[in-house]
Amino acid sequence: MKVLVINCGSSSLKYQVIDSDTENVLAKGLCERIGIDGVLTYQKPGIDKIKFEAPMPKHRQAVELVLKQLMDPEVGVIKSIDEIQAVGHRMVHGGEKFACSTLLTDEVLQTVESCNDLAPLHNPPTLVGVNACKELMPTTPMVGVFDTAFHQTMPAEAYIYGVPYEYYEKYTLRRFGFHGTSHRFVSQRVAEILGKKPEDLKIIVCHLGNGSSITAVDHGKSVDTSMGLTPLGGVIMGTRCGDIDPTVVEYVAQKEDLSLEEAMAVMNKKSGVLGISGVSSDFRDLEEAAANGNERADLALKTFVHTVVKTVGSYVAVMNGVDVIVFTAGIGENDTAIRASVLEHFGYLGVTLDPVANDVHGKERIISTKDSKVTAMVVPTNEELAICRDTVEIVTKKVVEEAVKEVLK
Ligand code: ADP
Repeated sequence: MKVLVINCGSSSLKYQVIDSDTENVLAKGLCERIGIDGVLTYQKPGIDKIKFEAPMPKHRQAVELVLKQLMDPEVGVIKSIDEIQAVGHRMVHGGEKFACSTLLTDEVLQTVESCNDLAPLHNPPTLVGVNACKELMPTTPMVGVFDTAFHQTMPAEAYIYGVPYEYYEKYTLRRFGFHGTSHRFVSQRVAEILGKKPEDLKIIVCHLGNGSSITAVDHGKSVDTSMGLTPLGGVIMGTRCGDIDPTVVEYVAQKEDLSLEEAMAVMNKKSGVLGISGVSSDFRDLEEAAANGNERADLALKTFVHTVVKTVGSYVAVMNGVDVIVFTAGIGENDTAIRASVLEHFGYLGVTLDPVANDVHGKERIISTKDSKVTAMVVPTNEELAICRDTVEIVTKKVVEEAVKEVLK
């Protein structure tokens, strides 16, 4: 089955077409600057990357262009839209309503919309993307895969905030956690690689990218995670502040004469390692600057490691032990120095890094020594593949259910 996987942001749209039988990516790309001017990138194995400007006033035009490009007689991968048998959408916030992936019926989409208050930056663009696809592919089944779903197994003591309980009752104010598709994919892959059942493992997944989150996965289930009500919480990130004393926001607003929204924009876009260093949110730039003697870049890197170490350490306590610490996403997969700096704090648990094995970029690998008491690993995440697999499972199930209904008529 050919599955189109879509990940919609406010001004961007990432896409992949995956053949679910072989799990090969047939084509992939990105629409950027939607609503501004519009740039489409298209990649297919065996050809040079194609990039061109095209007007994309709305997401609908972006989806139209993607479909047109996929059907291009020379470089396309399908002849007609019908060849796309299902679309899998990355959905950000499903609130408490979605503990697993689901078919995006009109009723489901209304429920997703009711979660918009919880993710005003992320959910509306996703829904715009879904509706654009529905308009252009009205008979193709659409599946939503939620970033929050995997964390719905957290116990109440892990998700309740220390604020009046009625806010939870009235507004579902609680920790939700994000990157769930990645944490689920990586933790399952760890079990596969080690030849064990997820139920037999205590895993800490460090998804360290532009946005970073860490999850304690006990017996295959998320039991705690670092991001909170929104993806702003947890470890410090590229531009996000992560966990802070809430008074910081009020203090900044007062001193800098900012509105609450402006102060929150600082926390989201000008903080994290960018804010500390004043150099960049990209770890490659920070490492270069630090190597050239930039002390604030060095401080930013050390602060990042410190928050990761604190979180991993707390999850060892939450699970009363750990079998595997695994790194994924841009920094986790590529930054050998950050991995080494984090792991050296866990010598007390018997973690021994194999420096040769750690010298790896973006490849599945055990990076601890054979006699290490805790296994350290690198497992590249693949959220698109996880979305594709869920989509196929749900669409196939639906087809089976309909066939049964037909027989029973
Ligand atoms: P996103 O959250 O946008 O999906 P990614 O997981 O792609 O982010 O991570 C992007 C980040 O990964 C970059 O900003 C950079 O900090 C980091 N990164 C990517 N490649 C490297 C590398 N070779 N060495 C160190 N850091 C890297």
